[in-house]
Amino acid sequence: MIYYFFSLNPEKHLIQVEFRLGNITENQLKVQFPAWRPGRYQLQHFAKNIKDFHAYDQDGNSISIQKYKKDGWIANTEHTQTLIIRYSYYASEINAGSSFLNADLLYINPVNLCLYVEERMNEPCELIIHNPEKKKIACGLGSLQSEDNLILKARDFHHVADSPLVMSHYLETITYHADNIPFHFHIHGNMDFDNERLIHDFRLFTENQIRIFGGFPEKDYHFILIVPQHPYYHGVEHRNSTMMVLGPDSSEPEEIYQEILGLASHELFHTWNICKIRPAELLPYDYSKENYFATCFIAEGVTTYYGDKALFDSGVFTQEQYYKELETRYKRHFEESDPASQSLLESSYDLWLDGYEKGIPNRKVSVYHKGAIAAQILDGMIRKKFNGKKSLDDVMRIMWERFGRPFKGYLYKDYQDICEEVFEGSLSAYFKKIIESNESVLHDLNGQLKEIQLYVERDAYGMVKLKSLSEQ
Ligand SMILES: [Zn+2]
Repeated sequence: MIYYFFSLNPEKHLIQVEFRLGNITENQLKVQFPAWRPGRYQLQHFAKNIKDFHAYDQDGNSISIQKYKKDGWIANTEHTQTLIIRYSYYASEINAGSSFLNADLLYINPVNLCLYVEERMNEPCELIIHNPEKKKIACGLGSLQSEDNLILKARDFHHVADSPLVMSHYLETITYHADNIPFHFHIHGNMDFDNERLIHDFRLFTENQIRIFGGFPEKDYHFILIVPQHPYYHGVEHRNSTMMVLGPDSSEPEEIYQEILGLASHELFHTWNICKIRPAELLPYDYSKENYFATCFIAEGVTTYYGDKALFDSGVFTQEQYYKELETRYKRHFEESDPASQSLLESSYDLWLDGYEKGIPNRKVSVYHKGAIAAQILDGMIRKKFNGKKSLDDVMRIMWERFGRPFKGYLYKDYQDICEEVFEGSLSAYFKKIIESNESVLHDLNGQLKEIQLYVERDAYGMVKLKSLSEQ
């Protein structure tokens, strides 16, 4: 599959796309548009952004293409070996999972606007971007400028879908190395920070995470940051990159810098946990419909826990900063979702229902916040039993060795088994209560916090504070 992109109408935010597929032997071919994107487990119906959809044969003659569902078409390929489809994609929104075009910026999340043919998804793909102005590019895929075009090659459609790109004249890139791997930080937009400090801090949390797993899964990595004009905070993980959108709000520059660190450390941890250590239900991704899975408390909860912990353990965050992050997390969980009628497992399925909305009161829990608390409780239990000689790090390392490295999907039961193997004993009470029930975890959390002389106090109004035991 080859995709050509033209930005002829930046003022109208329209990206022109040409899709080409050769070696066709069938009389009819089904083409599909992605309905969602990995990282956000919710249908987004990207097909609503396309218009002027037409199909052609290898000589450029029109051929018939019939819509048979909201994001699927059947092309008549009886008399052609090559199918060409042209359409426009309306790219007017900037978040970490969208696409955007104006005179300054071409930002493409290919999963938003690339058609695919299911039977041919595993073939190598090419992205060809018309770039006569020779704008700079940030992308996890390598690129080559050839005359007026920029050419990017991908192993298969999944690789395409997982490689967002940003093109602009104003891109700035700084690079550091950790474990001999180059890490690039690309920024489009205005944000004031000290490059040397950023590189120093990024290297520290990167090295911390690499140490947990014993190596980095990719040959390089790209943090891609767009700074919009308005306040915004959003990141999406990809196999060797992350797309981050962080707009300035009224906060102090120092607070925004802490936010970049928090977001970047979280997204980097996903390089292992979900990009490689992937729930079996998501391997491979089916972009045409919901991919239900029970274990988002591992994918997002464990990642949230480690994102901040890596910053603290590597010395980037002070203890005060780390405890402030923990308190924010506890407030979000206990003040917003305790009590809740659902367990972590149930709320994982319901990401597809209303996971990214506030939802009705006291129904669901956040797989991020409660998931991170669940990870912290388990980490504390393991550390306590083995006097700090074992921890959740051992669980994640085994998950990487058995499922991530061989790229084999895991099930909830696999995670339970590995946790018990590391714990050298039954954890069924932990899983039944913390993961599978809707009982409050406040008491369990306080049991672990006691080990570091802290506790969570909840007042009569349900408001939460993280306090030192000496204040009691
Ligand atoms: Zn995440």
